[in-house]
Amino acid sequence: QHHPDRSTVWVGKPGAQVPFGPSTFTFIAGPCAVETPEQTLEAATMAKAAGASMLRGGAYKPRTSPYAFQGLGRRGLDILAAVGKATGLPIVTEVIDARDVAEVAEQADMLQIGTRNMANFGLLQAAGESGKPVLLKRGMTATVEEWLMAAEYVAQRGNLDIVLCERGIRTFEPATRNTLDISAIPIVQAASHLPIIVDPSHASGRKELVVPLCRAAIGVGADGIMVDVHPDPEVALCDGPQALHGPDLRALAQAVRQIPPLV
Ligand code: PEP
Repeated sequence: QHHPDRSTVWVGKPGAQVPFGPSTFTFIAGPCAVETPEQTLEAATMAKAAGASMLRGGAYKPRTSPYAFQGLGRRGLDILAAVGKATGLPIVTEVIDARDVAEVAEQADMLQIGTRNMANFGLLQAAGESGKPVLLKRGMTATVEEWLMAAEYVAQRGNLDIVLCERGIRTFEPATRNTLDISAIPIVQAASHLPIIVDPSHASGRKELVVPLCRAAIGVGADGIMVDVHPDPEVALCDGPQALHGPDLRALAQAVRQIPPLV
């Protein structure tokens, strides 16, 4: 019951592109936030060793509290770009303001629109004109239909290189930060041609749930996953409790390696 014309979206520089789509499984990993060059390089090295083919990292952080670490901004972008180059991993990073789209698009291989900005239509339109693929996260209170309409705002500006990311929705359950809506994956794959990946780190907020939720994502047929890793989660400036490290990351690497070849 998949959409008959499911798309493959290619991300990265010619010759080193990473596909997202129906015949592949894409694994993105990296730190929630870029903190220092050393921390970012270490996280990227861990991600690559675990089998990731793309690096994530936030330079502009949309934090709930204005007193929390807001990211390094432009300096964070420079660090992420340098680490991407050093490791050979294409980079995805969030843009939170339409005025920053050109600057972020200059460095990033893919622009991330986060849950808090899914319905920021001016930002979606600017991303649609950026010339870069867009990773569009689901708004935490958005229906699947609203999310697909948000993607239309990007597409309407001529950019069809859109990958959707299910990252959990707000429910009454406080055991996890959000509730991963696993049913959204087959629903989207039937309704839309766009690839869809899962972010279990931001869905759960708890590292011990990340590997089981990745297994669920693989089981339900998601087109990929995006997870937070950190060389020292205890001292992370952002979302340390959900960052993978050591044995958890090895368990995830094994789960990804066990995916049967896709046709
Ligand atoms: C993130 O991926 O860094 C992030 C903030 O995610 P979300 O928008 O899903 O909360």
